[in-house]
Amino acid sequence: MTVTRPDAQALDAADPLAAFGSRYLPQPDDVVAYLDGNSLGRPLASIAEVWTDFAHQQWAGRLIRGWTEGWMDLPEKVGDELGAAALGAAPGQTVIADSTTVNFYKAVRAAINLRPGRRKIVIDRDNFPTNRYVVESLAKDHGLEIVWLIGTDVGGIGPDDLAAVLDEDVAVLTMSHIAYHSGYLADMAAVTAAAHAVGALVVWDLCHSVGSVPISLDACDVDLAVGCTYKFVGAGPGAPAFSYVNARHHDRLDQPIWGWLGRQDSFEMEQGYVPAAGIRSMISGTPSVLGILAVREGAAVIAEAGIDAIRAKIVGLGEMVIDLFDEHLQPLGFRLASPRDPIRRGGHVSIARSDARELCSRLTAAGVLPDFRTPDAIRIGLSPLPLRFTEVWDGVSVIRDLSA
Ligand SMILES: *Cc1c(COP(=O)(O)O)cnc(C)c1O
Repeated sequence: MTVTRPDAQALDAADPLAAFGSRYLPQPDDVVAYLDGNSLGRPLASIAEVWTDFAHQQWAGRLIRGWTEGWMDLPEKVGDELGAAALGAAPGQTVIADSTTVNFYKAVRAAINLRPGRRKIVIDRDNFPTNRYVVESLAKDHGLEIVWLIGTDVGGIGPDDLAAVLDEDVAVLTMSHIAYHSGYLADMAAVTAAAHAVGALVVWDLCHSVGSVPISLDACDVDLAVGCTYKFVGAGPGAPAFSYVNARHHDRLDQPIWGWLGRQDSFEMEQGYVPAAGIRSMISGTPSVLGILAVREGAAVIAEAGIDAIRAKIVGLGEMVIDLFDEHLQPLGFRLASPRDPIRRGGHVSIARSDARELCSRLTAAGVLPDFRTPDAIRIGLSPLPLRFTEVWDGVSVIRDLSA
């Protein structure tokens, strides 16, 4: 279907989320289209205000007293806020702490500890590098066998791919809810149920799905999950990540990085580690207060916009990009490296051509910022709150012009 610029303008005029664009700090003049919000979300103006206010009122004003006056509770409080806004998680199961990599290590190891005697971990070959490396490390240290899945649908893993490998020897299955390369959106309910049917636990990585698609961790009976907050949550470069552990696992939860702030009665400084009750024991050391305050702003704007409206806009942006792909890019030799079916597609559209790396540098010089992923893909990120349809349209037209 042909999509003209006036068509994109009409989509903007009808967009119920259009007003959210003004919540963000302005984009620099040299940027024509920011299509990388799936790697680093744009800053909300409210984050700059909250940080300035925090420095003056709380850090300068309260000094060390701030810790007992509320900072120490922020990991769980804001975890609950993010859980309600974007994760489908009831309170008491989510904390904000550490990086995704560290949380993923803790979560997978905790899951292994909950399934003693089982010898296998299942993960897909197309998973994000950090996830593959952490699993390799854990398998080496614990004498476990890694079962590598290879996806069939643009790298996506469906229940059929799992049927062949899941058995009673699998301790943990881990997958990304949205694949970082293709944007394939896994069926969380079906995959989780398939793992549970053989008694395995599931650790989901939600980096690309938190803030871009509705997630129902409790309803899907997910065991553990982790994710970052600097992509669609927009909490800033290196913002702390989150961990979710289903309440039914709390009484036997044993994560490997035993730190003082995950201990019962931290400030008693006692000998010997005893985990704090509940999700608090997923914490290891001192939380990043500035980072958590930014996560709070990101969660609040998701709650205000509503995750269903966010999802609807992402689908709309994605359908426009795919129409433009069919009309302009496929004839230039690009291949669609994302699912065509919007039900299976997350918050970005990947297109592939052998010169993608070099093309990406020329796009960047022209003010269009997508990202390159080896070996030959360009990801077009569709941040639903700051982006207008016209900005995406303009970006794709520059891709077309520079690719001809
Ligand atoms: C972005 C991303 C990460 C990032 O991990 P960090 O520890 O924040 O660097 C991990 N896993 C997936 C699937 C990602 O998309």
